[in-house]
Amino acid sequence: MKNIILFGKPGAGKGTQAVFLKESFNLIHISTGDVFRYNIKNQTPLGVMAKAFMDNGDLVPDEVTIQMLEGEVAKHPNAAGFIFDGFPRTISQAEALDAFLSKNNLAISATLALEVDEDILVARLLSRGKDSGRADDQDEEKIRNRFAEYNAKTAPLIDFYSAQGKFHAVDGSRSIEAIAEQLTTIVDQL
Ligand code: AMP
Repeated sequence: MKNIILFGKPGAGKGTQAVFLKESFNLIHISTGDVFRYNIKNQTPLGVMAKAFMDNGDLVPDEVTIQMLEGEVAKHPNAAGFIFDGFPRTISQAEALDAFLSKNNLAISATLALEVDEDILVARLLSRGKDSGRADDQDEEKIRNRFAEYNAKTAPLIDFYSAQGKFHAVDGSRSIEAIAEQLTTIVDQL
């Protein structure tokens, strides 16, 4: 079973690459951002709670995010593996994920990090925001706050997964196809 974390700042291309990996390796793709947006659209209690955090570009609290993620994994008992996109984003989420997987005799196979400069990402996100209408993609201040959240809370995961020998960084500023090819090669060898 291959369990992959797609890692990187907002706009780095995690969702785009998840589509390729999901097809190639028959994996279940779980994007916590997408699950939150689905809950907001359907005005569930979880969505109502998460909305203010997301609109400001802040992380949603760990406890609810972890519980939500575990619920999503549990929906697919026969999966050949998972792509975690946008999760974990804090050390506490990563520890909870390791504990949850090991309870089910599973483990993370690799963390694939898409590295892109923040200035390139701002331009990408503002352009995506015009099409998607996402509030958090339309305002440079909110985008910069998401980077600040990443740098403070998510970047420490680089050391966390490097210590486990599971961290693979790739240059995410290249073409979608070139990145997909490199990621596929890495996942093939797991
Ligand atoms: P994304 O679509 O991955 O860029 O996520 C959009 C927003 O959803 C983030 O800015 C956070 O507010 C929230 N979010 C998504 N995943 C997480 C997570 N693992 N932990 C906390 N908040 C999250």
